[in-house]
Amino acid sequence: MSSHPTRGAWITDMADRLRGLFDATRYEVPENVRCSCAREGRAKGPGWCTFEGARCGVYVSPDVSDPVNVAEILLHELVHAALGARAGHGRKFQRCAAAVGLVYLSHTRGGTFATAECLKTLRSFVEECGPYPPDARREHRDGRQLSLPGGGE
Ligand SMILES: [Zn+2]
Repeated sequence: MSSHPTRGAWITDMADRLRGLFDATRYEVPENVRCSCAREGRAKGPGWCTFEGARCGVYVSPDVSDPVNVAEILLHELVHAALGARAGHGRKFQRCAAAVGLVYLSHTRGGTFATAECLKTLRSFVEECGPYPPDARREHRDGRQLSLPGGGE
């Protein structure tokens, strides 16, 4: 089990493991994706993916503190990273999401959740990554976890 000083380091480690899930598919997450924990200025979902030229960034909100949830959100965002900005949550997205173990919820405009089998894999990755560090800015000392609607942006 590893130990990470920051959420960004944990998320980067997790993202490297999640990349492996794309190996068995015909999709590929580009090398230059920056993965971290961040809050964006305007209100968004629990995770998001940005594209600036050839650079891609994948972020999970600091409001999410359950590590399996973080991994699930990260996997969704890596699907965006693999497909590029134009794919949105269209059919291409849905095919790639299904290929890596995510179920697409059509009524949520882009929400996904991990299949039982995928969850098992995510839990084993979480164990390998070690404890998810507390948010540097806003610790939940009471251990309370925010409940979030599935998926995200
Ligand atoms: Zn999305």
